[in-house]
Amino acid sequence: MQDLSFAHLTTLRVGGTPVEVTACTSAAEIAETVARLDADGRPLLVVGGGSNLVVADGPLDLTAVLVRNEGISLVDATTISIQAGTPWDDVVAFAVDHGLGGIEALSGIPGSAGATPVQNVGAYGSEISDVLTRVRLHNRETGRDEWVDASALDLAYRYSNLKFTNRAVVLEIELKLNPTDRSIPLRHLGGREVPLAEARQSVLQTRRSKGMVLDAADHDTWSAGSFFTNPVVPAALAEEIERSVGEAAMPRYAAADGTEKLSAAWLIERAGFPRGYPGEGAPARLSTKHTLALTNRGGAAADDIVALARDVQAGVKDRFGVELHPEPVWIGF
Ligand SMILES: Cc1cc2nc3c(=O)[nH]c(=O)nc-3n(C[C@H](O)[C@H](O)[C@H](O)COP(=O)(O)OP(=O)(O)OC[C@H]3O[C@@H](n4cnc5c(N)ncnc54)[C@H](O)[C@@H]3O)c2cc1C
Repeated sequence: MQDLSFAHLTTLRVGGTPVEVTACTSAAEIAETVARLDADGRPLLVVGGGSNLVVADGPLDLTAVLVRNEGISLVDATTISIQAGTPWDDVVAFAVDHGLGGIEALSGIPGSAGATPVQNVGAYGSEISDVLTRVRLHNRETGRDEWVDASALDLAYRYSNLKFTNRAVVLEIELKLNPTDRSIPLRHLGGREVPLAEARQSVLQTRRSKGMVLDAADHDTWSAGSFFTNPVVPAALAEEIERSVGEAAMPRYAAADGTEKLSAAWLIERAGFPRGYPGEGAPARLSTKHTLALTNRGGAAADDIVALARDVQAGVKDRFGVELHPEPVWIGF
């Protein structure tokens, strides 16, 4: 496969052209391709749905290895095994259809199943770490094909030891779900537990209203999802920010060692970046539905997205002294 740029391979729809694009439709083909490129010392990037990638403009000295092995199978009544290239939302639909609970709140997250452990995807009070038992990896350091326990991945908020390290390729994942007809308590429904199918529809509807379900016709979804992680700051700084803004209800949640997690979206808005910033006509803008997504309005280059990200970061740092860290993986900058 040739002549495919990252503008076609990512949901932000920006980015230059790799040396080569190779689509792999089986776990064995992924492992062989990656092993061969590694042996030849040729740089590569593993790509699933491209929904958590910001790739630089211009020619890129790397081969894009597309993970396209698909399949979902029941290992036993409550355990499912999923090929890495399976679209994640198909997995949620499968689980809900089979009366298996635990991932319904992760409905509508774009991308592949194999990428879900990479940043421990999460939404509405659930994370993949709640149900992930083990992953099958192609270990790029040893060349081995091995199942490893989820506990070996250091899963944390939007993090695992696979993210940014490229040490292994996920070939397959295994989830342990609950046989149930009720959802987990859903944050956006005030903690209510509802029938699984209803939970899925309600999550999809809420996500759509925020531009968080991919829709080619809606530029608010030409994004990489949340562009910044929620910052964790010393409690004293949280206190100071709340006082300086003077609003009663600043979102703040206790975190480890006397720190607090704040809402990046809230800080961005209060730092003077409204939805749709910088306004009509700009190629890259904040989503018109919420301030945490940086979006391509159709003609953006990677540089436009990066300039907007820097602008927002500097504004939040200036106003509140808080450093915002990007959530997606940046390539080629
Ligand atoms: C509209 C929108 C909404 C989103 N909402 C959420 C959300 O609610 N919660 C959330 O957590 N995320 C969200 N995201 C981010 C994104 O969807 C997830 O991070 C998703 O898991 C990325 O999957 P992908 O297959 O697209 O990964 P890619 O973007 O293709 O890759 C991301 C990173 O993972 C690596 N990678 C991909 N596949 C593999 C593999 N098989 N083995 C090893 N490494 C791999 C890549 O090399 C890259 O470093 C959203 C994104 C968008 C565009």
